[in-house]
Parts: sequence; structure tokens; C-alpha cells
Amino acid sequence: MQATLNIENLSKSFDQGKVKALDGVSFYVNKGDICAVVGESGSGKTTLIRLIAGLEELDEGEIHIEDKLVASIKKNIAPEKRDVGMVFQEYALFPHLSVLENVTYGIKKSKSKKEVALATLNLVGLEGYEKRYPHELSGGQQQRVALARALAPNPSVLILDEPFSNLDAMMRHKLRNDVFNIIKKTGVTAIFVTHDTQDALAVADEILILQNGRLVQKDEASALYKKPQSIYVASLFGNTIQLNKGLQTAFKCPLKEDCCHAIRNENITVNEDCDYVSEAEVLKRTFLGTHSQLLLKLDNGEHITVVTNEPVLGNTLKIGFNSKDVLAFEE
Ligand code: ADP
Ligand code: MG
Repeated sequence: MQATLNIENLSKSFDQGKVKALDGVSFYVNKGDICAVVGESGSGKTTLIRLIAGLEELDEGEIHIEDKLVASIKKNIAPEKRDVGMVFQEYALFPHLSVLENVTYGIKKSKSKKEVALATLNLVGLEGYEKRYPHELSGGQQQRVALARALAPNPSVLILDEPFSNLDAMMRHKLRNDVFNIIKKTGVTAIFVTHDTQDALAVADEILILQNGRLVQKDEASALYKKPQSIYVASLFGNTIQLNKGLQTAFKCPLKEDCCHAIRNENITVNEDCDYVSEAEVLKRTFLGTHSQLLLKLDNGEHITVVTNEPVLGNTLKIGFNSKDVLAFEE
């Protein structure tokens, strides 16, 4: 399969080189795939997609979209000529334009502008809304309009930067699933930034992890979850407990010296038989609805915080984990 988006050795600094926002990033996204970009705040996610969109100039590297060089040290094609559509966190609709006018805006001159816009509104489930203005719509509807506006010109690459972070939890999941079903239906190649790793696991074909401007891992969602290459990657996908010497002693699980080991919170068992166990005293419990967070003191005095949905009665319990769930990273 041919890659629609090709990024080679991309670097970008700010403040006269003092801040290296991106450092030699290379990857590609195949046609029709959805690629999620994940990383802690400041890791370079927004810089990466602003460079792809043409909103920022690169220092080094090349960007190809559909085999066309759109950015290099010598070349910088304007955003509107790159064949990309964009959806931002804050919708960025034109407040004084109707829904239809917002969606028509980016379509190149053609006789069928209105038909294309109406068909795209239909696709995002907003038929009948074309005469409304942005302030007459809910946040979720505004985000659908933003999606329709980005898709209407039929771009090669759709770019989304934290598209759901302005929405409440109830709406997020429904809109997320709707939006990515629509994206899959259109077959457009998409790259989207999210700090919500559940979003990434749920909808992305591939996930790309940034750390300090460097690409540290790119894999299919399940592969990445099962085999994170570092504790940084593991920690992005949920509470991960590093098994330091003290914890290894508490759980009686001597591990190899030259590796860093960790266990995911969800692999910690309560009052179950498993490979490594420790008695624990509950020092504090915090009620979190379906779960509770427990601060525990282990056999040897080590402290550990775990989240569990097991009912925990009394002040002592047995916690543990199995050796197959231990993650190991080369130091
Ligand atoms: P993310 O989206 O992952 O939070 P960004 O790409 O926004 O990260 O930022 C990466 C790094 O580059 C950060 O250290 C940030 O402060 C810096 N940065 C981003 N944009 C600018 C800018 N216009 N001027 C100066 N520094 C910037
Ligand atoms: Mg950002």
C-alpha cells in the first residue's frame, strides 16, 4: 500500500534554537489509515501537525502528501494548497456565517458547491441544520460542522488536534465514535492528536508516541499497549507502577538487574492467588465511584497506591500480580 503522508527527518526549534520542539521525526501514514499522535504536554504534538498543515515552517526534513513535496528547507507550499483538512479543539467556525456557508467556504470554485456541502452535512448527520448559525448549535454539533467543513473539499489528509477535549464526557464518546465512523466511511487518511489514550486505542489504526520532540514508538494500538518500549510509553496508557528494589523485595520477585520493570495497575490482583503476593495494610481509601483508590503499606514497609473495583473489607488484604504481566524495559 502506498503512503499518503510521508514525513522525513522533521525538525523544528523555537526561540532561536533554544527549544527543540521536534527532533528528527520520520514516519508515514498509509492511505485510509487513522494515526493517533500521543505524548505528554510539550512533547511536540501540535508542532508536528502544524508543520504538516503548513502553519509553521520546518528547520529540517521533508513532508510529502500523495507523493507531492509540500515542505522542505527550500519549499513551503501554502496551507490551502496542501490538500489537507483541519479540525481543531475550539471548532473555529466563522460565527457570522451559517452552517452551509461555513461548510461551503473551503470548496474550490465549482458549480456543485452547494450540493457537495449539503451532502457532507448529511454525512455528518446535520441535514436540516444548514441555515443555523454556530451559536445556535451545541458543542457536539459545532464539531460536526467543523468536520464537514474540513471534509467538504475532499482532502488527502485530515488533521485533527484534540478534537474532543472541549466536550463533556457523555458527549465525547458518542461523538468520537460517530466522527471516526464518518472518517472511515470517507476513506480519508487522518492524523489526530489526543491526550486521551483511550481515544487513541479505540479508533486509531496506528499510534505514534512523542517524547521531547522525538518519535519513540509507532505501532498498532494493541501491539503498543502490550509491548510498550519504555516506562514513559506504558505510563501514557494508564497507571503503571515501577517495580523498584523495595517492591521486588515486598513481592518476593527478584528481577534482572539491568532492566527496568513495571506492572500496570489493572494487572494487580486483590485477594487472589498469583505468582507474587504481599500482605498489605490499607492506610487510606478514596472512593472514585466504580473504583476505589487504596494507599497500601506492604510486608516490608514499602508503600504503593492502587486502584481497584474489588470490594475491600477490613484493613488488611493480599495483593499481587503474575509474572506474565511484568513489563521489562532495557535501561
Ligand atoms: P504539545 O502539543 O505536545 O503539548 P507543542 O508542539 O505545543 O507540544 O510544543 C512543543 C514545545 O515547543 C514546547 O516546549 C513548547 O513550549 C514549544 N513551542 C511550541 N510552539 C512554540 C512557539 N510558537 N514559540 C516558542 N515555543 C514554542
Ligand atoms: Mg498541543
